[in-house]
Amino acid sequence: MSKFIDSCLGKLEEYVPGEQPQERKFIKLNTNEFPFPPAPEVIAAVSAAEVGKLRLYSDPTCRILKEKLAAQYGVQPENVFVGNGSDEVLNFAFAAYCRKGVAFPDISYGFYPVYARLYGVEPETVPLKDDFSVSAEDYFGKNKAILITNPNSPTGLLLPVSEIERIVRSNPDNVVMVDEAYVDFGGESAVPLIKKYDNVLVIGTFSKSRALAGARVGFAFGDAALIRDLEKIKYCTNPYNINRLSLVAAAAALDAQAYYDEKDALVAETRDKTRAALTALGFEATDSKGNFIFTKHERISGKTLYEALRSRGILVRHLGGERIREYIRITVGTPEQMETLIDKIKEILNSLD
Ligand code: PMP
Repeated sequence: MSKFIDSCLGKLEEYVPGEQPQERKFIKLNTNEFPFPPAPEVIAAVSAAEVGKLRLYSDPTCRILKEKLAAQYGVQPENVFVGNGSDEVLNFAFAAYCRKGVAFPDISYGFYPVYARLYGVEPETVPLKDDFSVSAEDYFGKNKAILITNPNSPTGLLLPVSEIERIVRSNPDNVVMVDEAYVDFGGESAVPLIKKYDNVLVIGTFSKSRALAGARVGFAFGDAALIRDLEKIKYCTNPYNINRLSLVAAAAALDAQAYYDEKDALVAETRDKTRAALTALGFEATDSKGNFIFTKHERISGKTLYEALRSRGILVRHLGGERIREYIRITVGTPEQMETLIDKIKEILNSLD
């Protein structure tokens, strides 16, 4: 870093993304990407003609994509925000709502504390219960912004929307953000709450269940006034935040929802089968409703298992941190990839004997 950087920024601890190896070919089960390609309609939409239009700026209003999102989720376009990945949506929401304080679970998406500190706030981390579930009461009357990931990551556990509603109701003077990055693999969406409450922002992404992590498209639903807040920050920072190719890809993905519904169901089925196979091998695993499995084995540490899998060409995530040190998080891949995973895990466990 240079001596010129703002001293507050210079001190920040950065978010460390999962490994994205560019050379060696791994079975990549570490960053919760979708194991199948985007729908054929998406690939067709990113056409040579569209590439030719890169000369022109993209639509700063994201009109077509907003209209399609609104139609699919049963809201109005003025209730929709589109961001450069849900990371950007979260960034803007932290800027807008979290400066006077923010609370979220102690075990959740590792980017949240980074955003809080970027905006000068030390976040309140609320311990999950011993079984890693969220207790809604812990968030009542906090008098600060609240952020709940549902299903949570890395645990995959769901909080019923009725419990989220209780949190929203008990904090009418603060925004409650619900990060639904993984909702399509078996969760229940809180989007209907945006019609009843002006303080709930539901955040989603095309990165997980719609196979577009590399396109960087996220979105949020909320009361029209909340959406105007996020638009304000966007127009103060980067009005053309979504590039042309990503706009057409995301719009085409919504048109191909049947393809994704089928594949999302296959991912969920593969998750449950893999979890059962792991349990049969003596693993403990949470009841994950995401596209990942959170698991540990009493005979091998999380770090050792991560390393043993890595040396056998399988990349999973070892997140570390006090309460979850012994766990690894495994993204659900194709059925074939998960069979290979189980074979390699058997080999590793046998080598311990
Ligand atoms: N929220 C959660 C809970 C996540 O796990 C992730 C991705 N790791 C994101 C948001 C950000 O995803 P993206 O920016 O790709 O939409």
